[in-house]
Amino acid sequence: MAKTAVLKSDLFLGHDPGIAHVENPSRLEVIYDGLKSLTGLDNLLFPAPEPATRADLLRVHTAEHVDRIAATAGKPYDFLDSDTATSANSNAAACLAAGAVIDAARLVAAGSAANAFALVRPPGHHAERGYAKGFCLFNNVAVAAAFALRELGLKRILIIDWDLHHGNGTQNSFYQTDQVLYFSTHMYPYYPGSGALQEQGSGRGEGYNVNVPLSGGMNDLAYASIFNEVLAPIARQYEPEMIMVSAGYDIYYGDPLGTMAVTEVGFAYLTKVVKDLAAELCSGRLLLTLEGGYNLTGLRDGVLASLGELAGMAESAETAAKMAALTEAGFGRPGGLAADSLATLRRAYSPHWRI
Ligand SMILES: [Zn+2]
Repeated sequence: MAKTAVLKSDLFLGHDPGIAHVENPSRLEVIYDGLKSLTGLDNLLFPAPEPATRADLLRVHTAEHVDRIAATAGKPYDFLDSDTATSANSNAAACLAAGAVIDAARLVAAGSAANAFALVRPPGHHAERGYAKGFCLFNNVAVAAAFALRELGLKRILIIDWDLHHGNGTQNSFYQTDQVLYFSTHMYPYYPGSGALQEQGSGRGEGYNVNVPLSGGMNDLAYASIFNEVLAPIARQYEPEMIMVSAGYDIYYGDPLGTMAVTEVGFAYLTKVVKDLAAELCSGRLLLTLEGGYNLTGLRDGVLASLGELAGMAESAETAAKMAALTEAGFGRPGGLAADSLATLRRAYSPHWRI
């Protein structure tokens, strides 16, 4: 039976945006350490990732941007935007991060991995075509989706982004195409400012950009409501050939950057929903890539919970019972979102989707 591929590398620890930056190497160190404690390691494989090529990056980014990031190589410090900086090895880490997500797509498409999790940094979903933004240098998931369209011949890719923040760069990369459906849940209004309900795509892409803007305080039940009653029906209507997840763990209840209230049970559940959708719709072809997550305990436990689901490891009886309760979560049901939030989403998306 094919295993879950975990893409990891110590080179990702070489990107250092400076002392006291929340997006620092310790984020991956705690995850990599946590992997050692996982039971069921037999279900995982650890292929060494390869860096993205210039051609891979140019499917999403401008040559000027690729050159700008390359020019940071070897410099102890460079400054790209108000909260995005680089160190000597950042370009190497960023190229490898984008390449690792490409590798994940390739392995999953070939069936040599059951699914995959790219445990990378820097994260990617804020990076725009022509500039770095919000801790992100290259848009890893967008580069992988563009690769899968062009090199693997796929025609429909669903990108699910459950990071606290809206993935402006990913939205903009595919705003005018129906070959990528971008689905994002995020705190709104909040950084980076985009992600309104009205941003639904344009031209051939109209309807293929689905934003679910949320106030703070959303817990496991609230997210389960959205995944059960909004994401799942849209995914079934879209019939993707591969699912990619921008997995952000900054919706954890103790995250310093946000006020969401998701626990590791919630992360296991969200992963289970997308895994089940992938099994139903696209032969299980699913990859996750790490975006945010700044509470180190929540980040580690959330990632390990997701990985456990991907690899089919048994949950504890307590977690399994809590997850079973989340399958019942819905709008207007106890603990779920208010029924009128569903009505608002339904109204906004009725020209394109039945939800
Ligand atoms: Zn984030």
